[in-house]
Amino acid sequence: MDDRTSGDGQSLCPPTCPYCGSVLKKWATPAESSWGEGFQYICFDDQCPYYLRGWKWMKEQYAANASYRYRCDPKTGETGPLPVWSEDALKAQIVEA
Ligand SMILES: [Zn+2]
Repeated sequence: MDDRTSGDGQSLCPPTCPYCGSVLKKWATPAESSWGEGFQYICFDDQCPYYLRGWKWMKEQYAANASYRYRCDPKTGETGPLPVWSEDALKAQIVEA
């Protein structure tokens, strides 16, 4: 079923996105990122309101064609935006359970 609490310890993240209710995906952190090696939990739902309003916000604030997705760090429970530049961006790093 779901192994998010096994392996490298307890996840402090909720199992689902607080904005759209989709199950968060385990996402392999790029080695060069500020989070270091490991995993983050990301909402990759393309209908997520957090992600959808991000496009508008980035356009208005930065004139940028980008958005962000809901992210949670399972080690700290800290949440924040994960910047993306397209609908498919970063999906290659999703780790399927
Ligand atoms: Zn969501």
